[in-house]
Amino acid sequence: MSESLKKYRAKRDFNRTREPSGAFRARAPAGASPRFVVQKHQAGRLHFDFRLEMDGVLKSWAVPKGIPTAKDERRLAMEVEDHPMEYAAFEGIIPPGSYGAGTVQLWDRGRYQVLDGTPREALRRGKLSLALHGEKLSGRWTLVRMRGEGRDRNTWLLIKAEASLPKISVTKAARSVKSGKTMTQLSQSRSTWKSAPAKRGPASSSFKERIRHLAARKHK
Ligand code: MN
Repeated sequence: MSESLKKYRAKRDFNRTREPSGAFRARAPAGASPRFVVQKHQAGRLHFDFRLEMDGVLKSWAVPKGIPTAKDERRLAMEVEDHPMEYAAFEGIIPPGSYGAGTVQLWDRGRYQVLDGTPREALRRGKLSLALHGEKLSGRWTLVRMRGEGRDRNTWLLIKAEASLPKISVTKAARSVKSGKTMTQLSQSRSTWKSAPAKRGPASSSFKERIRHLAARKHK
């Protein structure tokens, strides 16, 4: 198990949340570019989590205002604890009372390259020139650490480099690359709770019927 996942584990109770514990390390196929994911996370505050596979973990940044898409646009990116590789496939609900409680949508996924040196060197230097090859995000970005000490060392900027991203359709932007679900649909799928397994409605029930069923249950 990776030393760098200590903080990640300390914050979570894996008897409650379905987030991965990181006990199993996924190994990248030889020669493949490392992976990146973006997760849309409606926690106390909506933000996007930007994660880069590096040395067997996901280096992670919380981007409150979302990934910049217009050339030279810059967004604050707060470096957070490393996440296990399995987190790259995580989507669902983190139960109330748990760290990061709320809805997580797998917003984008793909491969990335660092264009100036190895990812590890670039991270240490505090500047990564990134080429992202995702389902929504494709092109160049720069991730650069702002000057500062202590806690401020976690402050980075994510900048859209080279050219603006061609417009993503509203429908595509709203949907998960894993399940096709919107944030609203994901927030209503209680079956992802470990602590409170959902009682399923009739198997053939339509989405509307299922909502009605859930609403009726609430009033019992
Ligand atoms: Mn988050």
